[in-house]
Amino acid sequence: MAAQLLDGKIMSAELEKALKAKVEALKERGITPGLTVILVGDDPASQTYVGNKEKACIRLGIHSETLRMPESTEQSALEAAIEKANADPSVHGILVQLPLPKHLNSDHALSLILPEKDVDGFHDINIGRLTRGEDCVVACTPKGALYMLQKAGIEIAGKEAVVIGRSNIVGKPMALLLLQENATVTVCHSRTKDLAEHTRRADILVAAIGRPKFVTADMVKEGAVVIDVGINRVDGKLCGDVDFDAVKEKAAYITPVPGGVGKMTIAMLMDNTVAAAEKAADKA
Ligand code: NAD
Repeated sequence: MAAQLLDGKIMSAELEKALKAKVEALKERGITPGLTVILVGDDPASQTYVGNKEKACIRLGIHSETLRMPESTEQSALEAAIEKANADPSVHGILVQLPLPKHLNSDHALSLILPEKDVDGFHDINIGRLTRGEDCVVACTPKGALYMLQKAGIEIAGKEAVVIGRSNIVGKPMALLLLQENATVTVCHSRTKDLAEHTRRADILVAAIGRPKFVTADMVKEGAVVIDVGINRVDGKLCGDVDFDAVKEKAAYITPVPGGVGKMTIAMLMDNTVAAAEKAADKA
């Protein structure tokens, strides 16, 4: 049986439609949601990601400004740019594109973004609130993955969820979100012994590893839901962390790469930006 596709293109287009209506409603109140993206250096992947974010803002009517700073930017200049955006009431969201050049301290820079403008959900306060199950800005990629599960009506409570990867931006927040939804969560990583023994138990399997086609069909339970977060480039073509062609024959649901979680990541950035503008408007 071939799995049902969890289609990020369709789901993100639907979400964008709803967000566009929210942007229009905000504009009627005299507020245009504003996103500032800070891009340091000329990493080609980062340039592409930032370009996609700019395009999404244009589609939705969000005002976006990208500060392109040279590779040689000093920490003080980066931090001054963040403080300026913090102080600007027309900026509702601030995003520092990662990775930053090696000489810069990204943890310190991210800690300076006002938590309510932290549309990436990487600020310590937002991560702390997520850990406590409180209202907060949630990191876009895990938020998008959860949205796909919920949108497809997949039951999460009581299910065995296995997350491969424990990064701060994907694996850990993903595990926390699934826990919040009452799944029984296992987090696997590079030091996990007998990984397949864990993954074969999973009703919901999330792969966030960064290794092309790492999750093979023999690692997946019949009827599982498989969320592939990985974005890898092999011979110039994008592929995920899951061996899609083989795993789709075994899974009940699967996300494709491209056209899966990646699309939702951008949509969730827009969602976080619109929500930040709405909160600011309600406070004014
Ligand atoms: P990362 O390198 O920070 O973390 C990778 C994780 O995989 C680590 O926790 C590590 O322990 C684990 N791992 C590595 N080798 C392993 C192995 N052999 N067995 C089990 N676990 C292993 O990466 P990340 O930032 O979390 O990103 C993961 C993937 O997701 C990458 O391909 C990245 O490009 C992609 N990504 C996609 C989006 C999106 O929008 N779809 C967003 C962020 C990251």
